[in-house]
Amino acid sequence: MIPYGRHHIDPIDVAAVVDVLENQFLTQGQQVPRFENALTAYCQATHAVAVNSGTSALHIACLALGVGPGDIVWTSPISFVASANCARYCGADVDFVDIDPVTRNMSVAALEDKLKQAKISNKLPKVIIPVHYAGLSCNMQEIRAITQPLGIALIEDASHALGGHYENRPVGSCQYSDACVLSFHPVKSITTAEGGAVLTNNAELAKTLRLFSSHGITRDPGLMEEKSEGPWFYQQVALGYNYRLSDLHAALGISQLTKLDDFIKARAAIAQRYNDLLADLPLNLPVCSEGACSAWHLYSIELLEHERADIFVKLQQQGIGVNVHYIPIHLQPYYRQLRFRPGDFPHAEAFYQRAITLPLYPALDESQQLQVVNTLIGSLA
Ligand SMILES: *Cc1c(COP(=O)(O)O)cnc(C)c1O
Repeated sequence: MIPYGRHHIDPIDVAAVVDVLENQFLTQGQQVPRFENALTAYCQATHAVAVNSGTSALHIACLALGVGPGDIVWTSPISFVASANCARYCGADVDFVDIDPVTRNMSVAALEDKLKQAKISNKLPKVIIPVHYAGLSCNMQEIRAITQPLGIALIEDASHALGGHYENRPVGSCQYSDACVLSFHPVKSITTAEGGAVLTNNAELAKTLRLFSSHGITRDPGLMEEKSEGPWFYQQVALGYNYRLSDLHAALGISQLTKLDDFIKARAAIAQRYNDLLADLPLNLPVCSEGACSAWHLYSIELLEHERADIFVKLQQQGIGVNVHYIPIHLQPYYRQLRFRPGDFPHAEAFYQRAITLPLYPALDESQQLQVVNTLIGSLA
């Protein structure tokens, strides 16, 4: 089976992890700060807080921006459930903004309309979480321009988009957001097995993020409520979590990050080849929007004339590990039970009905890709 996504680990990655096992701290040593510095350098942001998953990163980003009971958080229905769950962890309400059917990202026009209505009914969100679907950055400049005057904070869910660019800057620079979240799950641009990070250019926010990532405990006298009683002293000043990344994971991340540009080049070449080979079929293909350069996490096609289930099963039976990204979050039973219904976000639902994710990962070679394309062409015939 050719999988839809796969990590790429080489002997240098293995040696980096073994070196930590044999010579260094397993956790709370120097690898995590080194990884954080490498992330800020790559992404051109000033602060990074590495944690044990992208989900944890989303959770502490919401907490650090003050999301709590009575607040509202908006995100895209075409995402992994973690993009919405993070607000629920904080006791906040979740709502969604429909997608743009071309970019598959949160629609700026739909966002503008929804904000107008929310302003009238006094139900503006505290935070909006745009998701860079498949690796393509949202139109952050416009989203910032319409949300900043309303005092709404932005967390980019860039779990798909590390290595991508927006307006010639790396995704993660936080030029138009308060924080940007990354995931290092094995299918993402780089992996630490499990892991994530929050990037920000706000020093105060970075301190709060770090506090929430480790029990709410600080050794920084500036964050303590009383004077330090001595070198042993620490204080718990908030209710945080144990969301720390270990040094083993961070060492893998440092090694992986040095190869990120090569990974993205390989992904972009595969995507370009799909674009060329599939151009004449009755499909919608991913687009490149103005100003953004995708990290090509996913290659999702939409079937315009065929039943998705038929084609999906045919591909799977012939060894093509297709997938579907995503079942709209608002249609999950947990969210339906909160009040959401089919029909609430028609573009997201239409996209879901027709979508299939084709295999895309750095080591997918030309003959494997031709096998995917020929099997697809055969299934559509
Ligand atoms: C992978 C992913 C996450 C969660 O990341 P984990 O590291 O698996 O917790 C969040 N949002 C999106 C869009 C993702 O794809």
